Amino acid sequence: MKPDAISKQILFGSQKAGKTYTFDEKHDETLPADMWFQESDEGLILFIVFYTQACRWSRCLGCNLPSKVSQDHVPYKSLMAQIDHVIVDREVRSRASLIRKVIVSNNGSVLDEDTFSSTALMYLIAQLNLNFPNLSILSMESRPEYVDLAELEFISRALAEGDTPTQLELAIGFEAFDHHIRNEVFDKGLSLETFEGLVNKMAPYGYHLKCYFMQKSVPGMSDVEAVTDIQNAIDYLSQIVKEHDIQINIHLNPTYVARGTALESAFRDGSYTPPLLEDVAEAARYAKGKSISIFIGLSDEGLAVKGGSFLLPDNQPLVEKLELFNCSHDFNILNEICKNRKVEL
Ligand code: SF4
Repeated sequence: MKPDAISKQILFGSQKAGKTYTFDEKHDETLPADMWFQESDEGLILFIVFYTQACRWSRCLGCNLPSKVSQDHVPYKSLMAQIDHVIVDREVRSRASLIRKVIVSNNGSVLDEDTFSSTALMYLIAQLNLNFPNLSILSMESRPEYVDLAELEFISRALAEGDTPTQLELAIGFEAFDHHIRNEVFDKGLSLETFEGLVNKMAPYGYHLKCYFMQKSVPGMSDVEAVTDIQNAIDYLSQIVKEHDIQINIHLNPTYVARGTALESAFRDGSYTPPLLEDVAEAARYAKGKSISIFIGLSDEGLAVKGGSFLLPDNQPLVEKLELFNCSHDFNILNEICKNRKVEL
């Protein structure tokens, strides 16, 4: 599809959801949009957000991730320059042999070749093989409709040529489990049939799956309903794991009030507040003994309106405990946090 047709799709999605943000057209297109390190039980993670043309869907209610990238096409040579920038970054070089997992994002779909160049993707795999000798997982974010098995097989084969066996993980946005909230209110455009079709395709190859969820993703949801929604997701995905012999990780993001979205208007008129981290701990501890693993996302990427983040000036000790949980999977940490939880009546 031509780049200007894709720009129109992006605008259509943004307007459908009443979004008011603009895109980051001033960004130097030879630099990634963002990158950071995370500690987890899987070891050191390097998270890279490449600067490309924005997500074509662009209409999910509380998402302003497209505001960090471009409305227009970003050519493959610029993307390759971004990859070079990551590889020569001083901190990345100094920790290269410790990096166990790389998460590749463009705040949209890395597997959508119209927004993320195939040449650049091949170049990225080559650079990962050359520079990260202990890489054990490559995770790529994408909407399911762009997942092409032949492409995954090719990437997986290339990864196998690295010094260490590297597992492929696909990361998809689920956001909410309740069908009405996910598709009618949040407008995710993801049916369980599509999701299960993806699982059926991937499972025989042993690829891993990460599912992103947002706790309390829309206005009108109480804190208790938000916890229950995540618990239902845990039950559903645990059953999928049993039936399909696939490894699934839930990446649970507490929702923040993203600038320029319907969440911002609801926050300003008092009809929405972000979830409390105690409630996030309550939802996450339901995963104990289940056949999925869970990771709690603790970054708002600087995209929240003032006062609209789950990160508050006085809850750093709580954040540190949750980070400890991410590294240890010790559910006692979550039980301890939940002792102080206030439940609404
Ligand atoms: S949540 Fe994902 S699919 Fe939805 S608009 Fe944001 S980037 Fe696109």
